[in-house]
Amino acid sequence: MTGAITVDIAAPIASLVTLTERGMEDAPKEIAAITEYHAHVYYDPSNEEDRGRAATLRAWVEARFPARMGRWHDVPVGPHPGAMYQIAFAPELFPTLAPFLMLNRMGLTVLLHPETGRPRDDHTRHAAWLGEILTLKTEILPETDA
Ligand code: ZN
Repeated sequence: MTGAITVDIAAPIASLVTLTERGMEDAPKEIAAITEYHAHVYYDPSNEEDRGRAATLRAWVEARFPARMGRWHDVPVGPHPGAMYQIAFAPELFPTLAPFLMLNRMGLTVLLHPETGRPRDDHTRHAAWLGEILTLKTEILPETDA
């Protein structure tokens, strides 16, 4: 006999998702609005092993995908709370690059977000995290691209 497994997911979700990420929508957004994706790979610049994992993942991605690799940022930039580099890629690469990052991030935290011309939403309610969810400095993100 199999019994239904019930899990109370309301409590942890409520603690992770802020009100700004949960507004009601009148209509679904079209995915055609996504011009590209970013993957931000976070690492601890003071930890040689961590940096090594980030360098290996970067080399693996560079060898396999026609993505635009951003510079290493050892000091936090923009809304990002820690050291990271960015991987920018076309929507067509999502079905292969996203799972590649899932399988090969070696414990590193990765922020995966679309670019739809709405920077604040793209980094919050539109974003997906692999690993730990970090707190971004969203107050510096404009609502729309100027
Ligand atoms: Zn980004």
